[in-house]
Order: sequence, then structure tokens, then C-alpha cells
Amino acid sequence: ALQGDFEEHAHVLNRLSVEVREVRTAADLNGLTGLIIPGGESTTITRLLAACDLMEPLRRRIDDGFAVMGTCAGAIVLAQYAAGLDRPGVERMAISVRRNAFGRQRDSFETDIDIPGIAGGPVHAVFIRAPVIERVDPPAEVLASLPDGRIVAARQGHMIALAFHPELTPDTRVHAYFLRVVDASVGAAPEGVAHRA
Ligand code: GLN
Repeated sequence: ALQGDFEEHAHVLNRLSVEVREVRTAADLNGLTGLIIPGGESTTITRLLAACDLMEPLRRRIDDGFAVMGTCAGAIVLAQYAAGLDRPGVERMAISVRRNAFGRQRDSFETDIDIPGIAGGPVHAVFIRAPVIERVDPPAEVLASLPDGRIVAARQGHMIALAFHPELTPDTRVHAYFLRVVDASVGAAPEGVAHRA
């Protein structure tokens, strides 16, 4: 909750009956089983992660299997390599992204995409000055692409990166998918970490 549309994510999680905490300090991470890094401005989020002494604690938690989902700017923050980002992000997913990759007149657009693993038909995806995922290297995997082949979602075990904004539609299926990733990561944790409320 350093910047961006974290409140919209909180609303979706509340609708799924999940207890939500806004994270602004390293102490806020204690006891959490998952984290969403929202859309906003990746330059601002990465600057604040460093300024709030959250970068290293977050990296360590992720390395221990802490589930994270980054949407739009959040996906840029998670990427190992981000073209157009002037400072280091969390750099934990084996993906390369390019900021603001959808030219000017398509700065914002909406489209339906199929996401294997999410049943019940395509997901309506809202793209706002979105990045594109240019490369996905193992162990990361492509989760979803546009019809022209451009990758817009990737997963690497307990980490998910989405170029679009699932929190801006009434559909809760993407967040429900993330909650399954969270549950799997908690189950896989070395010593019994607290379960999601
Ligand atoms: N263009 C923004 C960035 O590069 C991302 C936009 C968004 O999160 N909607 O960080």
C-alpha cells in the first residue's frame, strides 16, 4: 500500500472474505501469507520500497516462498529485468518486461483473455499504460497471451505477474486463483506458518 490502486484489491479480497492488511513497513509483513503489489507507477513503488526499508525484507520473504501477485506496475516491480525502469525492483521473477509497451492510442484498452487454470470462460482484462512481458524464462511460465502472442500474464511457483488490472472488474476469479497459490505456498512452507483467516 505504498502507492497505486491497493484499495481496489482490498475490496476484491474483502468480497472473497479474506482478511486484508495494508503493508507500508517491514513489520506489516509479519504473519501475512500473501501480498499483492498493485498497479500504479513502478518508479514510485520501487523508490518507496527502498525508502521504507521494505525491499530486502520483501525479497527475503519471497525467497522463503511467500506468495506474491503483481498487477501492472506490480508486475514490473517483480520482474528480473524491466526496460524503462530506472532503479532496481524486487527482481524475483524470471521475466523481462517493457514498461508502457502498448503504443499511445492503445495506452488503455480492454479485451477478453483465456487463462488456463481459471475456469468459467475468458477474463475481461483492463490494460492501463500496461507493460508487456517480453520474455519468460524457466522456471517462470506463460499464463496468458493476447491473440497476437504478446504475453500478459506469467507465473513462477508462488509468484504471479499480470500486465492488466483484475481488481477493476467485478470478476473475482483472478484473485481467487491467487488465493489458491497462497494456500499452496502455505502448505509448502517449511514450518507451519499461520493459515489464512
Ligand atoms: N505505466 C506504469 C508503470 O510503468 C504502470 C501502469 C499501471 O500500473 N496501470 O509503472
